[in-house]
Amino acid sequence: MATTPFFTPEHPLPIAVLVGAGPGDIGLFTLAGARALALAAVVIYDALANPDLLAFCSPEAELIYVGKRDRRHTLTQTEINALLVEKCREFMARPDCPSRCVVRLKGGDPFVFGRGGEEAQALTQAQIPFAVIPGITAGIAGPAYAGIPVTHRDFTSTVTFITGHQQEDSSDKPSSGESGDEISNVDYPALAKLGGTLVFYMGVKNLPHITQRLMDCGLPADTPAAVVRMATHPEQQTVVGTVKTIAQLAQKAEIKAPAITIIGKVVSVREQMNWFESRPLFGQTMLVTRTRQQASKLGDQLLELGARVIEAPTIEIAKPTDRQAALTAIEDMGEYDCVVFTSANGVHSAHQAMIALELDARDFAAVVAAIGPATADALNSIGIIPDIVSPDAVSEELAVELISYFGRADPTKEPDSATLDLSGNRFLLLRAEIARPSLVEMLRNAGAAVDDVPIYQTRIPESLPEDAIEALQNGTVKWITFTSASTAKNLFTMLPENLRSTVGKCKRLSIGPTTSRALAELGWPATLEARHHDIPGMVAALVEEILRSTTAHAS
Ligand code: SAH
Repeated sequence: MATTPFFTPEHPLPIAVLVGAGPGDIGLFTLAGARALALAAVVIYDALANPDLLAFCSPEAELIYVGKRDRRHTLTQTEINALLVEKCREFMARPDCPSRCVVRLKGGDPFVFGRGGEEAQALTQAQIPFAVIPGITAGIAGPAYAGIPVTHRDFTSTVTFITGHQQEDSSDKPSSGESGDEISNVDYPALAKLGGTLVFYMGVKNLPHITQRLMDCGLPADTPAAVVRMATHPEQQTVVGTVKTIAQLAQKAEIKAPAITIIGKVVSVREQMNWFESRPLFGQTMLVTRTRQQASKLGDQLLELGARVIEAPTIEIAKPTDRQAALTAIEDMGEYDCVVFTSANGVHSAHQAMIALELDARDFAAVVAAIGPATADALNSIGIIPDIVSPDAVSEELAVELISYFGRADPTKEPDSATLDLSGNRFLLLRAEIARPSLVEMLRNAGAAVDDVPIYQTRIPESLPEDAIEALQNGTVKWITFTSASTAKNLFTMLPENLRSTVGKCKRLSIGPTTSRALAELGWPATLEARHHDIPGMVAALVEEILRSTTAHAS
């Protein structure tokens, strides 16, 4: 009989790590889990584990999906155990073995109804050392996100986790999802007698049976009950009733797996505590049209406010037409008096080119200038604090700053920015392929030598992501955000005719007048325009509008 967890001098570290993925919201994933994913050479994951977590993996990690995609391709638990052992054995023979691991990523907590116990046993039998990283289980997170405390001194001091699935212990059916079969193994008389808080996993299909058995065994029919579907996701849905009514109410609301059922007096507290579903943008699906890099900033804020966010990149950053000229300019940066960046994209493109050329911060020019705070932030993120930053992202403002920084006054005249002389100063502008000429003109007029070098270009992506098309097609998108005239024009170009009219039916949030004008020209007038023409301004306008309309409805 093998002993666990089977560490040896040869393998003093775990080979396999069973990692709890948490209930869905990636913010509920543990730091230890993120670290294990970053180290993983192989990741075997389920349907319930949020696929966004895979972003923590290194690019060369082997990712193996073993969840339910369609019936034919579902692995049985025995096959999953075998695959896990096989992958660990393969990995143990690899040269990177001691420093990395094989991660088995499972929804919620690996040892709560996830059959992680069986997987750990298979590892023990195969003499493979392992570790377990717990996750937040759906039976804790679901009630919390529905505003239901699982224990409360006024109501109960016990909470019981129960499977609503039949033969959980012995079946070799696929490991995730629900079963509609009869339930066995659960001591209903004991549960009804204990009462307290009862939390059922995998019980949606069996709900009529579960609730009937509890009442037959003496649980009062008016005991409060709730079902929470897709807990912690922006799509979370909760139905509340009593043990007598909940099965029918859930059926009427078409609740499907994954869902958690909570039965007990604590459910009554939800009325005062339903925080997650009360967030300002909860229930609103938003399409965010920006570049990939920029989208997440707005998307993250909307998500935080409760929205379901779908990103629809309408602008793509690509290498410049003359790549060689860009690389040469970057290689020669140190020879200029000043390098000027006029966008965060320019900073990121330059940084990538520097990495390719094996250059670092020491190869920058003596003086670095940035247009506005966003470009300065991008420079900070690569370890450069710009010497000159214009207050706003306006070329003319930056030109004035540069001229007064470098300008030498004509000694025969009074100092005045119009007479400052930049002759002898060499500037390198690293910019987009199409950029306004005013900055170059103002610097040259002041006598400077200016090399204006495109280091990236913007393009229209070939197509929208599938989830964006699908959400537009099925009419779930409520709002579309537009952060520039080009996001509007590009979206129009990218959409097929029938979906253009769908955009007309959604609400459209514009960052400011220029974008609103472009929208109006496309036949999509803005529903709402931000008063402050930036991302916080857009978010503020949206929250104000939605909260105003919900209070208007409520009163
Ligand atoms: N190990 C998991 C449970 C796996 S069993 C955990 O600890 O959470 C699968 C069941 O978990 C589902 O049928 C459902 O009852 C529940 N579940 C998992 N994620 C859920 C979610 N986001 N919302 C509601 N229920 C969830």
